[in-house]
Amino acid sequence: MSKNGEPSDPMEEFKKNLDQAFKQGKVFFPMGGQFGPESGAASKTEQPKGDQQQEEDAEREEALKRIHEFNLKPREIRDYLDRFVIQQREAKKVISVAICDHFNHVRKCLENPSLRERDYAKQNIILLGPTGVGKTYLMRNVAKLIGVPFVKADATKFSETGYVGGDVDDLVRDLVKQANGDVELAQYGIIYIDEIDKIAQKSDHGRDVSGRGVQINLLKLMEDTDVNIQSQTDLLGQMQAMMDFQQTGKARKKTINTRHILFIVSGAFDKLGEAVKKRLTTTSMGFGASRNALEDERDDFLVEVETHDFIDYGFEPEFIGRLPVRVACQHLQPEDLLQILTSSEGSILSQYVSDFEGYEIKLDVSKNALQKVSEKAYKEKTGARGLMTVLERIFRDFKFELPSTGIKQFKLSEATVENPSDELKYLLRENASEQRTVLSDEVTVYARRFKEEYGFNLDFDEAAINALVDQSLEEDKTIRAICERKFRDFHHGLTLISRNTGQTVFPVTESVIKNAEEELSDWVVRSYREQKSEDES
Ligand code: ADP
Repeated sequence: MSKNGEPSDPMEEFKKNLDQAFKQGKVFFPMGGQFGPESGAASKTEQPKGDQQQEEDAEREEALKRIHEFNLKPREIRDYLDRFVIQQREAKKVISVAICDHFNHVRKCLENPSLRERDYAKQNIILLGPTGVGKTYLMRNVAKLIGVPFVKADATKFSETGYVGGDVDDLVRDLVKQANGDVELAQYGIIYIDEIDKIAQKSDHGRDVSGRGVQINLLKLMEDTDVNIQSQTDLLGQMQAMMDFQQTGKARKKTINTRHILFIVSGAFDKLGEAVKKRLTTTSMGFGASRNALEDERDDFLVEVETHDFIDYGFEPEFIGRLPVRVACQHLQPEDLLQILTSSEGSILSQYVSDFEGYEIKLDVSKNALQKVSEKAYKEKTGARGLMTVLERIFRDFKFELPSTGIKQFKLSEATVENPSDELKYLLRENASEQRTVLSDEVTVYARRFKEEYGFNLDFDEAAINALVDQSLEEDKTIRAICERKFRDFHHGLTLISRNTGQTVFPVTESVIKNAEEELSDWVVRSYREQKSEDES
């Protein structure tokens, strides 16, 4: 900005920043930046609008309309979240109310800009609870429902100065990128910062200095501040802005205001749970009796957390003060994990089903098998992430092997969960004849490709095909790989033969498969002889 607040000439600004950046040794060219494959809308604005661009524009219009006319009720948001997120009843309720309050306030501000000046405590949220229980998933789904951009980062990657590690302002810039460069939409986005507990811990010599600095920086963002859309060290972005300016004569908007950006911070807060447990069990006479069932679950004490617990934990009071909405997510039990598999829209299981469908293989699942998967996943102690670990272990070899067989259907049974590799072997044995048919078909496919590429027909007889199939099974190699190796030099030889005799169709017998090179040499020699005798006659 120039001194009078008008956007200044980007060319001038760029020169100034370049100078400064070189002096400070801070030149930074982001990978996949404005010129890269992930370039934001800033670089797209002058492109002719394709179908995808038009679709994105329509989505953006729709999202902005939803924000301007926000009229969702907490129950509607909760019902939407229920489709995806299992359990976490309290969190869904609290988040739904906070989201409605936030976007109602945004709508009112848009209707009456003078409201902005008044004090309003933004409904920033602190989500407590163990890993993999749906904290991020809840907020991602909220963002999807409303159509606003969503950015997630770990608090540990930021540093106070932004020199080593990231600068918290990057979060806001990332929102703009997520919104395809649309600053208007980005200013209603959601920023999710995980592992916030890691920047609150005290070191042996008092409070962690860098963590405190990051808290202060975040605090500023959570309030009402303007962030430069272009990082001063992002020279490519500045060059792009300069070129846009030259082309259009218009300077791009330079800052984004954080007033309406919603911040969610989250963390496992292991030690905080312990501290609250201690406070509650030592200070409340007789209280312990009603809490017996929860005694072992340290994290369940997080529901009782109070502001001073956070401050004792190492948070700045002002920072915690900017996070008025607090809610704890609960551990997921095996039956919750089972429910995720059976009834959550977009569960990891449906991803596997659709992956196999991609090869036209139908995956059936038995309820008992899913129960076993859930029990195993629970033992991983990583919440619903355990489901991914267990399913990946089960299906890894199936995903590798089945697409190359004739198998069109298989079942995830209890036995498969217990012993996937034996079950896979059994399945392959059971379907051996179909597999031979598939491999035979691959020989035909190879012959067709050979014809397309070189113009010669390789006419495999049945014995040749069988020999190739045997070899493929024995060596655990595809027919294509075996044929490419065997017939690597054939097109040279066949070209010579064709020149000598005009032959274009070549019968391939079992003996050709066994001794490909010798057979080819014989064919070539014979063709010369044939040509000679023809010349003589
Ligand atoms: P965290 O609590 O650590 O933020 P996530 O929300 O990232 O965990 O969960 C990881 C993945 O596990 C999600 O993308 C989702 O697929 C699944 N998941 C986690 N919790 C739930 C839940 N309560 N209901 C349905 N799926 C869940």
